[in-house]
Formats: sequence, structure tokens, C-alpha cells
Amino acid sequence: MQADAISHYIKGQRANGATADARYGDIYNPATGEIARRVVLASEADIEQAVAAAKAAAPGWAATTPLRRARVMFKFKELMERRAPDLAAIITAEHGKVLSDAAGEITRGIEVIEFACGIPYLLKGDMTEDVGGGVDSWSVRQPLGVTVGITPFNFPAMVPLWMFPVALACGNCFILKPSERDPSASLFMADLLKEAGLPDGVFNVVQGDKLAVDTLLRHPDVAAISFVGSTPIAEYIYATGTAHGKRVQALGGAKNHMVVMPDADLNQVTDALMGAAYGSAGERCMAISVAVAVGKIGDALVERLTPVVQALHIGAGIDPTSEMGPLVTKTHLDKVRAYVDAGVAQGAKLVVDGRGFKGPQGYENGFFLGGCLFDDVKPDMTIYKEEIFGPVLSVVRAPDFESALDLVNAHEYGNGTAIFTRDGDAARDFAHRVEAGMVGINVPIPVPMAFHSFGGWKRSLFGDHHMHGAEGVRFYTRLKTVTARWPTGIRKGAEFVMPTM
Ligand code: NAD
Repeated sequence: MQADAISHYIKGQRANGATADARYGDIYNPATGEIARRVVLASEADIEQAVAAAKAAAPGWAATTPLRRARVMFKFKELMERRAPDLAAIITAEHGKVLSDAAGEITRGIEVIEFACGIPYLLKGDMTEDVGGGVDSWSVRQPLGVTVGITPFNFPAMVPLWMFPVALACGNCFILKPSERDPSASLFMADLLKEAGLPDGVFNVVQGDKLAVDTLLRHPDVAAISFVGSTPIAEYIYATGTAHGKRVQALGGAKNHMVVMPDADLNQVTDALMGAAYGSAGERCMAISVAVAVGKIGDALVERLTPVVQALHIGAGIDPTSEMGPLVTKTHLDKVRAYVDAGVAQGAKLVVDGRGFKGPQGYENGFFLGGCLFDDVKPDMTIYKEEIFGPVLSVVRAPDFESALDLVNAHEYGNGTAIFTRDGDAARDFAHRVEAGMVGINVPIPVPMAFHSFGGWKRSLFGDHHMHGAEGVRFYTRLKTVTARWPTGIRKGAEFVMPTM
């Protein structure tokens, strides 16, 4: 047993593996390429402990009034705001993204806690007086019990925060299974929840890999699963979880297109594309990875982009001058490089080649890749069809608006998309007809605010509910409708027909 390994968090305390032969995973510092720490990987026995803790805490937490649950959320929000710089440093150390970007994901996560603070209002039911003579009816939403969140590496704070503030505020217990590549943020948030007054067992963390996930997916005491990650795993989670009778929302991968109309403001487009394609080294599910240049604007667009992609300031995430950090692991770096190689082999024009980039002094072994820019990308190429999840932008040319729209709609993913134009008619038509869950008009990364809901279409989401906002409250509660009549003293006798009020 390795005492200094990143542990689970069960029933309000750190927990090392339940068995003597615990398995461990390596945690890298992506900027240096060194193994920084290890994380324990859950056994079935660890999962049993976490589920038992959550199950035991569930009745008490469900019976806690929404107002008291909201007060815990208010306190948690305050603590998260106060400790945001510490959490950002933890994220940068394990994920690699620049500190300002880590701070940004925490801010977006805190917005979901703010939303969850409104739970007394959000859980206010519907009531109809006199649905029939002397009969009243009301509908309420009640918690599900033990809920689970399985999350990806790219937002170790924000994506769990899309889920658990809403789940907890609705009166559920929650078990978080974070990515095994950057697991420390989960424990940091668990400690703050405890400090905010959350009872032990209501929030638990299990570190782990497929074994942990599979055990949770099949566990009879788990009521619902929220998942965010790649599409093949999302599809598997949805199929397996629903086959075991659970409510599942599984958000998957993406290939987000930005349509650049001939009348677009090229300065605005260039700035937007730089941030959306290369921010967080392209490791965002809402990253723009395809720019669709409509009409004759393609040459001017590539001309503008080329020098700025070449001038990207790439370095360690803790260096405040860095605009882009390293990729998360060597395996992921190799995968992204292989996509760039494939793009060249299949005939796309590599205008900016970041493959030769070396990390700055002291970071030569970091998992760095320079920004890459492809032009003349065709829809049948691998770099167009698949999600790369790296700092690689593809420019595709389209003769007109209709063919650009057809291109976006033909792609298997439908997470986010954007149009840049000055033409209100084109923008409105695009927003109406495009097959994607989140649409930006001159906004490159249209991530909905917490009081709206986040989710894609097509193979970017399996399930019926998006995350947070009203959809989140619906996902984490079930509807009950009560119909009531009180004795009036007037006896009518038994009725054998269908009650018609
Ligand atoms: P991933 O699918 O590899 O891992 C996600 C989670 O699933 C992790 O907790 C991991 O431990 C677990 N997992 C991995 N393989 C598994 C298996 N075979 N069986 C069971 N569980 C398994 O994703 P990632 O690489 O961590 O994250 C990047 C992906 O997440 C990208 O595809 C990105 O688009 C996607 N993502 C999507 C959204 C969205 O909102 N749609 C948001 C963020 C990230």
C-alpha cells in the first residue's frame, strides 16, 4: 500500500485501497514529462464501500430540507471562490493547461454551484386546486438516491461541477469517479464540501479505471449515472447502464465547426479561432477544430492565421506568459502527432507544422506540440472525420452557405458549432437548421451558462437530458403526482367506472 498515493474519499475521509494488493496508476507533470505522483485504482471492494456509504447517507440527506441543502451550497461556493487559486495550481500541475485557463474552468464550475443555491425555488412543485370536485392535485420532484459521475481528464473541476452541485442540491448522494490522469481536484473539492457542512457519505470519490466504472455501472444500489468522455466510452456507458436499469446521460466527443461567411470580420474571426482551436491545447470538447471558409474568404483567412499560429507562445502552464501548455500525456501527444502525420499522408496542406516544437529550457521533456494548421482538408480525410483533441485546426473550403451547412450536418458529431457573419438572416437560418446542441453566432465556444443546459446532439450525447440548468434538475429527480380528496361527510357509494372527476 502506498501511503502517499492519491486516495479515494469515502464517508468523509481519505481511504486507501481496501485490499492489500491495490493497483496504482501514474500521474505525470505534463510540462516536465516526469511522474509526479501515483493514484490508487479502485477494486470492487472499494466501490462496495463507497456505494454503501452513499446508500447509508441517502435517507438523511433526502430528508434535509432544500433550504438547508442550499445553505451548504452557498458555503461551498464561498470556499471554492476563496480557494480557487490553489485549485487552479492543482489542475495545472496534473493537466498541463495554463493557470488562467484553469482559473476559467473553476469560474464556470462555480456558476453551477450558484445555480444549485436556488434549489428551494427550483424544486417548487406544481399544484392545481380542484382538478375535480373537492379534489386537489400536486406534482413534486424527489431525489433518486445514489448517483454517480464519471468524468474526463480535460476539465477536472468544471465537468464534475456540472454534475454534483445539482445532484446534491436535489437531495441525492453522489459518487465521483474522476479521470485517473488528473484526480487531485476531486479530493480538493471533497474537502471543501465537508468544510461547508455536507454530512459524511453524501459525497464520495473513487479513483480508478474501467474496473471501477464497470462495478458502478452494474451496482444495484446506483440509481443514475452521468458520464462525460469520449464517444465510444459514452456509448458503452449508456448501453450498459440502461441495461442495468439506471438513468444515464452520457456526453461524448465532438468535432466543432466554425462557419466563416464571406462578410465576416476577419480580425474577430482570427482572434476567435486562435482561442477556440489552440486554447487548452485543443483539449476541449467545445474546441473549434474545423474552420469552414465560405466562398472566397479561405485564402485571406489562412493568410491571417498562419503568422499568429506560428507565434503562439507555448510553455509550462505555470508560466504566466504561456498561451498554450503541453498535452496531458505522452500517449496522447503521440496520438495527436499521428493524426498530423495522417493528414499530411492523405494530402492535406500542412501550413503550420508544430511537430518539431521542443519545450522551453527546463521543460524539454514535456509533452509539447506546436500549433498545427491544415488547409485544403477534405471531408473524407481522417483528420476531418475524427476528433483529434489537440492543437490542430483544419480549414475546409465550401462554395456557399448551403454546402457549409450540409457539411456540418453530415458530420457524426453534433456538440457545438458557430457561424461568424454580419448577415443576420444567414445567422438565424444557421441557428435554426444546424444539427448541433450548442450554437454560437459570432461566439466561438458557446458553452451555455449554468442556468441553461449543456449538451450536444447526434453521437455527442447518449440519453435524454443535457447537464445542469433545468435539464440537470430533471435528470437528478423523479416526478411524483399526488391526487387528494378529504372526507366531506357526503357518502356517494362505490364507483366502478374510470374516475373522471
Ligand atoms: P475517456 O472516454 O477516455 O475517459 C472518460 C472517463 O471514462 C474516465 O473517467 C475514464 O477513466 C473512463 N474510461 C476510460 N475508458 C474506459 C473504459 N474502457 N470503460 C469504462 N470507463 C472508461 O475520455 P478522456 O480522454 O478522459 O476525455 C476526452 C474526451 O472527453 C474527448 O473525447 C472529449 O470530447 C470528451 N469530452 C466531452 C465533453 C462533452 O461535454 N461532450 C466534455 C469534456 C470532454
